[in-house]
Amino acid sequence: MPATELSLFGLDAPEDAPLYAGAVRTVPVLLPLALEEPYTYAVPDGAEIAPGTFVVVPLGPMKRIGAVWREGAEPKPFDPKKLKSVVSVLDVPPLPPINLAFADWVANYTLAPKGMVLQMMMSARLVFEAEEPRWGFRLGGAAPARMTAARERVLAMLADGKVWAKKRLMDAAQVSAAVIDGLAEAGALIRAELPRSRPPAPKPDFAQAGLTEKQAAAAAQLCDSIEKGGFGATLLDGVTGSGKTEVYFEAVAEALRQSHAQVLILLPEIALTSQFLERFEKRFGCRPGEWHSSVSPKERARVWRGVAEGEVRVVAGARSALFLPFANLGLIVVDEEHDSSFKQDDRVIYQARDMAVVRASLGKIPIVVSSATPSVESAVNVRRGRYGLAVLPARFSGNALPLVEAVDLKAVPPERGTWLSPPVVEAVNATLGKREQALLFLNRRGYAPLTLCRACGNRFTCPQCTAYLVEHRQRGRLICHHCGFSLPFPKTCPACNREGMLTASGPGIERVLEEVKNRWPEARTCVLSSDLVPTTAALREILTQIAAGEADIIVGTQLVSKGHNFPQLTFVGVVDGDLSLATADPRAGERTFQLLHQVTGRAGRFGAPGTGLIQTHYPDHPVMRALVTGDRQGFYEAEIAMREEAGLPPFGRLAAIVVQAKERQAAEHYARELALAAPEARLIQVLGPVEAPLAVIRGWHRQRLLVKAAREADLQGFLRAWLDEAEQPRGSVKLHVDVDPYSFL
Ligand code: ADP
Ligand code: ZN
Repeated sequence: MPATELSLFGLDAPEDAPLYAGAVRTVPVLLPLALEEPYTYAVPDGAEIAPGTFVVVPLGPMKRIGAVWREGAEPKPFDPKKLKSVVSVLDVPPLPPINLAFADWVANYTLAPKGMVLQMMMSARLVFEAEEPRWGFRLGGAAPARMTAARERVLAMLADGKVWAKKRLMDAAQVSAAVIDGLAEAGALIRAELPRSRPPAPKPDFAQAGLTEKQAAAAAQLCDSIEKGGFGATLLDGVTGSGKTEVYFEAVAEALRQSHAQVLILLPEIALTSQFLERFEKRFGCRPGEWHSSVSPKERARVWRGVAEGEVRVVAGARSALFLPFANLGLIVVDEEHDSSFKQDDRVIYQARDMAVVRASLGKIPIVVSSATPSVESAVNVRRGRYGLAVLPARFSGNALPLVEAVDLKAVPPERGTWLSPPVVEAVNATLGKREQALLFLNRRGYAPLTLCRACGNRFTCPQCTAYLVEHRQRGRLICHHCGFSLPFPKTCPACNREGMLTASGPGIERVLEEVKNRWPEARTCVLSSDLVPTTAALREILTQIAAGEADIIVGTQLVSKGHNFPQLTFVGVVDGDLSLATADPRAGERTFQLLHQVTGRAGRFGAPGTGLIQTHYPDHPVMRALVTGDRQGFYEAEIAMREEAGLPPFGRLAAIVVQAKERQAAEHYARELALAAPEARLIQVLGPVEAPLAVIRGWHRQRLLVKAAREADLQGFLRAWLDEAEQPRGSVKLHVDVDPYSFL
């Protein structure tokens, strides 16, 4: 059966596939569905089908594509009388053995159904549908009865013995389609399948950068680990602008020099980083394979296949690129390794940086994790001697890091109804005076986070979530940031029916932009917020324009904190430095430090020195102190000591269990029962249940339990035993397990 007739999501198959009576051989086949284990199928002619091979199998009334799994996997018990057989084998490169081992590992660690991990490995739909061959022409051998100059030109072109696309042939020989058709009819040309075009190969020595001494030393260290071979993790720790990218490019080059080795570079927000792709092209002569959610289905298929066949040598991608079927992966780089977008929070809940280390260890290859503000986890791994450390102590430009100061909002508050304090306003004035760029950063989309009625005090909340509706003035709507619910901005208060009394409370990015336009009407302003820019391409365009100096003041959310270098940017003002501090997240301090260090670090990378001002109510908070004094080391010391003291990651391990139900009572009841069913275990504690801070999302009532385990405890074993024993959720009740949680909402 041709694969084109199938989709990953199944297809109605009218007649049941026949039972294969004389089956002697069976194989485990894992389907890309929420299944824990493979099913068993008969192999019709008893032929050997290697693990990893993609096959079509019947499942109920459907036919589906799955992958033959490893022998030794424990298939679900089955009734031999109901044994069905594999329908066909697909002409698709098989998953390499390492992918099977990796899928098993990830499923075991995250407690996700193995089939869902396989689904991530198959997320290139078109690969599994037969490709339309593309046709062209080559020499046919027969001599045409009549020769013309045009015909001669065509035959001359084809003398190279290759297959030419018709259009290309017409252009090259300057002839019409009729000339080619005539030759084909005469047998002088024959139709032939065009070979698939090969992806360009990055050249390790295309344009090597002259490295500084420190850079060269760090690069040599990384190259050493590649030469040595085998698993090894290295933290590349260097201040913003120190040339970490240049340095790990040398490691990429070294891996490429090794025959056939492939390289994976994981980046957060890869969709935004066109600058990265350009830099890669300058260094290696062509772009890497790209893998993220805005890549077209066709391109995805090309990259997937190219990776599996070993022809795509370098992939730059988002976290999901980790699940590609690399034929011969030789190096992984995780850039901005501290970034929380490496954590996937739905379906298979996993931390891509951590899983990348696992993948490297399974593949016995080196991995480089890179950051100017390493995660506490990686910092601790260096201390424990589990990761090597390569340091770049200074910026390439020789510029000092920006001078950062805290602005005490209690001492110098903004004027009523505005959000920029006098020192920030002054700094922007000074920056504009020098014809340099200023960036104002606020990590909150929309115009105002809260709308209330001055007459009756009514606050607009989402009908399906525990959340205020955020005013988006450009769109004229109130929007819930958790479920997307929205309504047109009302004229009257629905509670008291008074008109003209609704008032915006607090700032969002649009409101800061409004203030900027009022204060500096002459300046060229530019806003960067995911909801205000329609497409990735548009966003890339704006980033390029900013880098080219086509804006004086940039107002942006965390979109601006990564990816691009803005050479003319010398001042960064943080509108609300406290925003991410006041959460129940044990990583709140670390995250705030990382985010504000990165965003202020955008100033003064080149040319003129930079300054940063952070507006805060807590200028004496340890995070603010660390940012101001630049005492990074001190901050990490204190943060690590605190984590150790509290038994928090990476000194202890956490798993969050979220129970959701349509009725609050059902969620509460199930969560309580679940807690009671927890087995006794030394070194493991179950906390809760408590109502989640986001108590309701999309109408789902949420309860949370937190499992806290010592590092040496078998957390997964405990969770499995517990959840297997406990009563299964019924009715609308749903259960989510999040091992190593990053969200505590
Ligand atoms: P990081 O990744 O540490 O923030 P980058 O690699 O982006 O730093 O380097 C910052 C800037 O300095 C980039 O524009 C980069 O091209 C430039 N740069 C760094 N090292 C070199 C070098 N050895 N030669 C030329 N330019 C360099
Ligand atoms: Zn909502």
